[in-house]
Amino acid sequence: MPSFLGVKMTKKQFVIRLSGLEVGKHLYEFKVDDTFFESFDDSVIAHANLKVEVILLKHNSITTLTFVIDGTLQSVCDRCTAPFDIEIHATEEMHLRYGNPDEPHPDNVLVLPNGENELDISAPLHEFITLAIPARKVPCEEDSTFVCDNETLNKLNHISISEAPKKVDSPWEKLKNINFNDN
Ligand SMILES: [Zn+2]
Repeated sequence: MPSFLGVKMTKKQFVIRLSGLEVGKHLYEFKVDDTFFESFDDSVIAHANLKVEVILLKHNSITTLTFVIDGTLQSVCDRCTAPFDIEIHATEEMHLRYGNPDEPHPDNVLVLPNGENELDISAPLHEFITLAIPARKVPCEEDSTFVCDNETLNKLNHISISEAPKKVDSPWEKLKNINFNDN
């Protein structure tokens, strides 16, 4: 489950103003392209063209945000690392309430300190987009026009064979691998 740590990032165009919002439904639309991912040091995504609709439903004590994410992003083939485009269609939900952010709360609830009047959706949005990437990406299995990069594939296969662990016979060989440092 996503957690929304690191939500302090500021990227003005991904900020929803909460002060003065009336109870009811509010719609927001965001365009997510390459520049969005540049601000995340550890992002696995570099290229994307996504449209994100956020449906904000404000109740008296809790607010629900539904993220509808549509578009394409560039990923790499698990087998040969060749880049290819993935279509992303995802719907994710998170809840928002005021209180003490340090107190325990469910993963899909973002707790804002009282008086906070802006919500930066960058971090949860980044997490939702990352979650939408399929766990297994071998485009050649689904798309007959996609041909794996055979040159890279050969290199990778060669590495995995030559780096396969060698059989350990001597007890002294085994001892060499023991790490006495706790770190
Ligand atoms: Zn491939």
